Amino acid sequence: MTAEYVELHAHSCYSLLDGASFPAALVARAAALDMPGLALTDHDAVYGAVPFTKAAREVGIKPILGAELTVGADRQHLTMLVQNAAGWANLCALITAARHNAPKGEALLDPSQLAAHNDGLIVLSGCRRGEIATALRLGQRDAAVRAAHRCRSVYGARFYIELQRHHRPDDQRLTADLIALARDLKLPVVATNNVHYAERSGHRLNDILTCIRHNTTLDDACALLRPNSEYYLKPAAEMAALFADVPDALANTVRIAERCEFTLEFGLQELPEYPTPDNLSPGELLRALCRDGLAQRGLEPTGAVMRQMEHELAVITRSGLSNYFLIVWDIVRWSREHGILCQGRGSAANSLVAYLLLISPVNPLEHDLVFERFLSEERHVTPDIDIDFDAARREDVIQYVYQRYGHDHAAMACTFITFRARSAMRDIGKALGLPLDVLNRASRVIDTYRSSGRIAENGGLSDLIAPETLALIGDLAQQIDGFPRHLGIHNGGMILTGAPLSRRLPTEPATMPDRCVVQWDKDGLEDAGICKIDILGLRMLSAVAEAAKTAGVDLDALTFDDATVYDMVTAADTIGVFQVESRAQAQVLPRLQPRQFNDLIISISLIRPGPIQGNMVHPYLRRRLGEEPVQYPHPRLEPALAETLGVVLFQEQVLKVARDLAGFTGGQGELLRRALGSKRAHEQIEKLHDSFIDGAAGLDVTNAVAESVFDALRSFGGYSFPKSHAAAFAVLVYKSAWLKRYRPAEFACALLNNQPMGFWAPAVIVNDARRHGVRVLPVDLRCSAAACTVEDGAVRLGFRQVRGIGEEAADRIVAARDGMPFAGLRDFCRRTRLPHRLTENLILAGAMDHFDGTRREQVWALANLLDAPGMLDLDMIGDPLQFPAASRGEIMAVEYDLTGVMLREHPLALYRDWLDELGVFSSAELADVPEDSRVRVAGLAVVHQAPPTAKGHHFITLEDEDGFINVVVRPKVYPKYRTLLRTSPLLVVEGEIQRQGAVVNVVLSDARTLGT
Ligand SMILES: [Zn+2]
Ligand SMILES: [Zn+2]
Repeated sequence: MTAEYVELHAHSCYSLLDGASFPAALVARAAALDMPGLALTDHDAVYGAVPFTKAAREVGIKPILGAELTVGADRQHLTMLVQNAAGWANLCALITAARHNAPKGEALLDPSQLAAHNDGLIVLSGCRRGEIATALRLGQRDAAVRAAHRCRSVYGARFYIELQRHHRPDDQRLTADLIALARDLKLPVVATNNVHYAERSGHRLNDILTCIRHNTTLDDACALLRPNSEYYLKPAAEMAALFADVPDALANTVRIAERCEFTLEFGLQELPEYPTPDNLSPGELLRALCRDGLAQRGLEPTGAVMRQMEHELAVITRSGLSNYFLIVWDIVRWSREHGILCQGRGSAANSLVAYLLLISPVNPLEHDLVFERFLSEERHVTPDIDIDFDAARREDVIQYVYQRYGHDHAAMACTFITFRARSAMRDIGKALGLPLDVLNRASRVIDTYRSSGRIAENGGLSDLIAPETLALIGDLAQQIDGFPRHLGIHNGGMILTGAPLSRRLPTEPATMPDRCVVQWDKDGLEDAGICKIDILGLRMLSAVAEAAKTAGVDLDALTFDDATVYDMVTAADTIGVFQVESRAQAQVLPRLQPRQFNDLIISISLIRPGPIQGNMVHPYLRRRLGEEPVQYPHPRLEPALAETLGVVLFQEQVLKVARDLAGFTGGQGELLRRALGSKRAHEQIEKLHDSFIDGAAGLDVTNAVAESVFDALRSFGGYSFPKSHAAAFAVLVYKSAWLKRYRPAEFACALLNNQPMGFWAPAVIVNDARRHGVRVLPVDLRCSAAACTVEDGAVRLGFRQVRGIGEEAADRIVAARDGMPFAGLRDFCRRTRLPHRLTENLILAGAMDHFDGTRREQVWALANLLDAPGMLDLDMIGDPLQFPAASRGEIMAVEYDLTGVMLREHPLALYRDWLDELGVFSSAELADVPEDSRVRVAGLAVVHQAPPTAKGHHFITLEDEDGFINVVVRPKVYPKYRTLLRTSPLLVVEGEIQRQGAVVNVVLSDARTLGT
């Protein structure tokens, strides 16, 4: 069949709230209609270009890229299609100009830009909001003719008059005028349908999206909505019937489609050249740097090391990636020279070259890591190097990259903020005009939109919302799930290009000043072969760097084999230690007994959703302790799983299992691993499942074994670390553990200064430090600094620890004090001019205890200080009053409220006599209580968790003066105590002791608030 029609004007959901289909859905519909091609023309963007191109290539139709631009003061529309590479560069330049000429999220092209960037673009005159159509609608034919002449003078034979017919009242007249004008000026015409959804039924969702965009309801949005449901992807026959009077308008669609020859290149894209000295090639420079690295890393140039290095260098050179490594090396080198702690993570740690270049912190040869997981010649993917930087200095690194390569060669990846079930339900309900209080109640009741069919019965919502409406909301929410809503900035993903960015990929301003993002997210960039370097901020690196500096130790000299460090980790004495401090880790470490670096890699890989959901944690621990034999589902899997005693712990093992059991290639294995980690890949997983079972049968593996292994991989999912990543993180585990063991004051101080981070609140960190013999001293006007400091082996809280005192206020206090102590409250107020509210917080936190009067008296005095602006001095009015002294408990509560920590004693100490009378066990006493005993315990609830993997169990960690008590609440018991457990900070719990090795849990049978 010869094609009669190609749609050249279509919007996807990437028109952001003005298009109701994913690009792939439009492509699927076009293919079903036998269209040979389809154009994607989202508003002022090419956000969807990569998924659109991928989908079109899969079904074998021609993807035509383009955009509908917003032009000139009247915001008129112009449809642009990319004919060739020059056209793509020009479209990128135009979109970039339009985006930078408008506030974030909008675009407005200055028409003067059009002529300079016309080459390679085919231009259609636009929808009814086009300049020519608008003039004709207003009866200004002269203006329309002038505009048409102007366009023809710019685009010549690449300019068409666009005709659309949607059964609107004035359609016939408008198209008649457009056709007449075209005939007069001898311009070609072309029909389009300004598609906004694949199928007619999509109009409902599109209307809802329009309401969300304008923050209004369907009832109020009439004027904003399209009048009918004609904006779907129509078959050629329907279009032919609509445009029977202008057959050339249809024929031209096919001709234009043929003229558009541009396709996106998906191979590895060019990077900026790293300048090499002495005419060295990038590969030669890389080799020289690696040789220097051997010495720096203390490695002998022996056979194995040199073989691996040369092998990697050869692969890197042949893949054209030498330059990429040099660029990353340069960023790391610059950071080190500027004292910014950094280390690579992720699969890059599989590379010896990355280790020699000081990019990654682990030697892959020592940990049996596989370079091919990172880079191989058979698998052409864009390598991705992720580097963690001291979070406080990350911005400096980003600025260095901008400065080094220029703003036209560096930008950040974007992310699409997408609709999620719950937020979508609210938005949809609002658009349907449901009152806010009903929506609030509904969103409390509804857990996910999937259950919306049942909510009417159990939520008491049936009186409020008609069942049909509820069903409609549920249906629309399902359709909208995953739609992009607006653009965000990727956390650290920088891209660099050799060609100027504005001709390669459009950029637009981000919320952060002086920052722009490209119009593709990380998936689009990866598919299109554009290298990304993730410059991430890791607060633990900041804390470790700070603690090492204060303590004056060189962490690079550590050898990872200190037995007392492992003793501490084994005892789960790990508050504050990277990755192994959580409640779940505390349950595992005493059984796992980490004794060497490799055990740290295992321990952080074990407590991940993948191994937990795959039920691999307990088998691993039992096998390690010799409580059960090591088993393999099939003898073929022994090589892959021997290092983890027969269970799957690392991402790489998915590839190995698929290879050894089902004959998958590395590439197929990687596909499987990715699909397992994605929520949207059900179909793909089913396909891979079938090839897995077939492949296994071919290797004489029984069906039952193949199915059970595949099930295990499925529940393992993708929520796990690659071993290389775990190894890189384990370096930080050890360093932070070493600091906690040998420099507890400096470590605690650094943790406090880099909050928020980690698993525990500052109060827990401080209590833990005190149990390790570190004194923690209150904020003091005489000696505190802005941040917490170490003072004669004790931690002194800084001004910033006090609520409301930010950097600016803290610095102001320090500057005002400069060399001259404050003489009293009045003097303090006069010299700092801090708002009274903040001064009061300082008083109540104890910062002015050395002045006259109790804290209450000081607050009273403060309230009576006159603080009129412009007054040189402050006067006291009224007489000091006498106040009753506050109790220990009251003081502690106020301090805790204002500083987040408890300085003097643990709150449980206040109750201890009474608790002893009650026969309550302390955490220290619990260690010796036998299994199944009934006990009473008490403590401050510091963590409450109900992980989805725990099947309804709740875990509460209580803290007393001596340490922690783990409380387990069974699903049956939980509802009775829900409110109490959620609202009472101090709890008395009764229950049975359950022991697993050194781990003790109390299984709750009764609970009440302490003090009642
Ligand atoms: Zn338009
Ligand atoms: Zn349009």
